[in-house]
Amino acid sequence: MTCPHCDNSVPMKAYWQATGLSGVVCPHCNSSLRPVYWGYAVQFVLAGVAGSFESSLLRSAGYAGGFAVLGGVITTFLVFAGLAPFLIRFRLKEDGAVLLPHGKS
Ligand SMILES: [Zn+2]
Repeated sequence: MTCPHCDNSVPMKAYWQATGLSGVVCPHCNSSLRPVYWGYAVQFVLAGVAGSFESSLLRSAGYAGGFAVLGGVITTFLVFAGLAPFLIRFRLKEDGAVLLPHGKS
């Protein structure tokens, strides 16, 4: 994931701390970024497919329903987190607003 404004990489920390995906802020230039949604959708679908596949594997291996669902959820989360750096691309918000630190606006 790189910032389209300053070309520095946006760390996963900024991504996960965001209040929703629309609130990512580049730590290098303070640009407000939002993800390109097709990448997010592809990532979500792949993670969901992997999660349900894992869940059905666990179920067919004889694990109880709750454990199989838990395994599916964990797999979904891991795949989602693992794919994020490859599929998420940011672009600047249309309004070009730059968030300033408190007290400077
Ligand atoms: Zn930047």
